[in-house]
Amino acid sequence: MAPTSFFHRSIQSSIALAIFCCAFIPALAQNKKAVFVIVDGIPADLIEKLPTPNLDLITKEGGYARALAGGGRGTYTETPTISAVGYNTVLTGTWVNKHNVWDNDIAHPNYNYPTIFRLFKDQYPAKKTAVFSSWLDNRTKLIGEGLTQTRQIKMDFAYDGLELDTIQFPHDKERMFMKNIDNSVTDKAAETIREIAPDLSWVYLEFTDDMGHMYGDSEPYYAAINEMDRQMGRLWAAIQYRQQQHGEEWQIYITTDHGRDSATGKGHGGQSDREKLAWIVTNAKGLNSYFKTGQSSQADIMPSLARFLSIDIPTSIAREVDGVPLFGDISLYNPRLKKMENEIVINWTPAKRSGWVNIYISSTNHFRTGGRDEYQLIKKVKLNAGSATLNLPENLTDSFFKIVLEGEKKCGECVGGERRLMGDGGWRMGDGGWGI
Ligand SMILES: [Zn+2]
Repeated sequence: MAPTSFFHRSIQSSIALAIFCCAFIPALAQNKKAVFVIVDGIPADLIEKLPTPNLDLITKEGGYARALAGGGRGTYTETPTISAVGYNTVLTGTWVNKHNVWDNDIAHPNYNYPTIFRLFKDQYPAKKTAVFSSWLDNRTKLIGEGLTQTRQIKMDFAYDGLELDTIQFPHDKERMFMKNIDNSVTDKAAETIREIAPDLSWVYLEFTDDMGHMYGDSEPYYAAINEMDRQMGRLWAAIQYRQQQHGEEWQIYITTDHGRDSATGKGHGGQSDREKLAWIVTNAKGLNSYFKTGQSSQADIMPSLARFLSIDIPTSIAREVDGVPLFGDISLYNPRLKKMENEIVINWTPAKRSGWVNIYISSTNHFRTGGRDEYQLIKKVKLNAGSATLNLPENLTDSFFKIVLEGEKKCGECVGGERRLMGDGGWRMGDGGWGI
């Protein structure tokens, strides 16, 4: 699928807002470690229908919720429900209109929207990162290891590219080799977590999607989901071992990249309800009302990991993140935008009773090409109003805008400037574009 031009896409009156905030707890940061897992191509209805005893154990510690894949249907953020596209939304906390990975070719990722690994390494160069994956491109293209655009990021541990090893994993028509690869990937991840405990790990498993494509909604596919659940049990046991034996605090997020079509369960890529029906299982404590509404999305995992790992996302990047942390305080979610003739109506769902929302606007999108955008504070309104009407400033009647909703921040320890934004709810940011 060819990317629709940014400006064309922006004509639709929609908004993609993101929230970023910091729960900064330096004393504990040393012992915090995280792992996120993408298991390929499983719609939420199957997670809910089939027995998943190991996911249930993790859910008991934190929670389970349905989550959106594929961005906002018919809007600025609409995103193909294709594998690598979904992975990159998880990694960057942005939809395809920003990260620019439109299919599995991963032809032109826009590395100006950094992955969680790059944000983590920029701030904590000594901390350890890991990737466990059948597919090599996850490291070399999406994370962008060694590339100039990613400042030559290097993963500390990598166990991937096993699909290329046809001696250890001879390829068979039934694709059982992929089941074996996933088991090998899982075991290596579990062993590495137990013995080395990288600070941030990504585990990617593929077999479920293969069985979905081959058999659709039927026993072989369901059996692959059972297998996935057993694999999650092994990862969970390794995490528990670290928590008990080493006193570390771990967060795990397990999600999928896309659902499947409802007619057969074989296909995906489109915008039907079931193709967009992803889910998240996590052991995270303090899951917020936003997570519990089931309105969360794949894009929320990145800012959740950032909050847990005390990553201070620079303001210019935070303003682009489409996700919202799934645990801890947030100020608002579900922002919507309607463009009228000379004004804009913005609505949101408040997540707290009191506070203020600062609304910023920028008419440029230099960020996309590595530059900076200047934002004007256009309005300050009460959070619980849930809406605001903006008259377009004279100088902002051009064809493109970005809007940021910034929630109240309590700045008791605020360092100031743009690097560190601290507070109970942090900042609520995002952007929307439209044409006139
Ligand atoms: Zn997939």
